[in-house]
Amino acid sequence: MNNCIFCKIVAKEIPSRVIFEDEKLLCFHDIKPSAPVHVLLVPKKHFEWQTLGADDLGVIGQMYSIAPKIAKELGVYDSGFKLIVNCGEGAGQTIPHFHLHLLGGWVN
Ligand code: AMP
Ligand code: ZN
Repeated sequence: MNNCIFCKIVAKEIPSRVIFEDEKLLCFHDIKPSAPVHVLLVPKKHFEWQTLGADDLGVIGQMYSIAPKIAKELGVYDSGFKLIVNCGEGAGQTIPHFHLHLLGGWVN
């Protein structure tokens, strides 16, 4: 989609620090971390939570099933981590392209 930052990251038009990639999903470090570890899981196909269709549920399931594996890889699984979807500007959403935040790494 035109002018979508995440579509540009997926297309490698904007650089990112990639952690994981396959044909449906890209996972990279957030540019402005809100936690010691803050990564984003982004479907390669542009869709938005307000209008997501049945076709999009597969990749959403994949995002939630891979998240704990990424948390383990980044060493934040045992101390606990958060998975967050901001829905709407009032909740802090700034990029409409659907995405999941993985936050962790706080010292207990
Ligand atoms: P949200 O506020 O839920 O829409 O999340 C968007 C997230 O994307 C924010 O945490 C931003 O810091 C992050 N972000 C924006 N631009 C970039 C970028 N070029 N590379 C990595 N993360 C970004
Ligand atoms: Zn997009």
